[in-house]
Amino acid sequence: MKLKAGDKLVIASHNPGKLREISALLSDYDLLFDSSGNLGLEEPEETEDTFAGNALLKARFVSSKTGLIALADDSGLVVPALNGQPGVYSARWAGLEKNQHLANKKVIDLLEDKPRNAHFVCVLAVVWSNGDEITFEGKSHGSITWPERGNLGFGYDPIFIPDGEPRTYGEMTKLEKSQTSHRTKAFTKLKERLLYS
Ligand code: IMP
Repeated sequence: MKLKAGDKLVIASHNPGKLREISALLSDYDLLFDSSGNLGLEEPEETEDTFAGNALLKARFVSSKTGLIALADDSGLVVPALNGQPGVYSARWAGLEKNQHLANKKVIDLLEDKPRNAHFVCVLAVVWSNGDEITFEGKSHGSITWPERGNLGFGYDPIFIPDGEPRTYGEMTKLEKSQTSHRTKAFTKLKERLLYS
């Protein structure tokens, strides 16, 4: 399985920011991009209990609807002392009103004095129309801090300090965060496996 110049990838997302981010990450290659949002496809419910399961579910759905190669990602924060929560429910912890402060507060309230180590996970899934499929996982290890610090990132960034850093991801620029991020690591693996000859 490889990707080659001219291949069209449909990003399984309705978020224009995600389409921009992913096409920028893969901009060195002559790939074409579209997104399930642009194509008017609905979003399948994320019913799996693993990142890989949900990423594959999204990519399989888009590939089967379009007959094209689909790329999906699923990511979240894993706190071992909370039995892996919020995990695949990371986005849902912010509630319908998308109140990320409440989600961050829930992490620290549940943690009490338990160990604060945590990691972000990103899984990318690529599915071809002939049924071939592959996943890539990246992790970023660190620890939970409180109070929240920094407003440069999103999600749980203000309460996550990556290992070896004094700052939270919320205090780092996109470029600085990308040096250690779970997403960068997953994309590096994808490029090594699918794009470099
Ligand atoms: P999604 O995979 O883009 O749907 O993201 C799932 C959720 O995980 C997000 O809504 C965030 O709450 C959380 N998350 C994933 N990656 C990051 C990150 O890099 N920083 C902070 N939060 C993240």
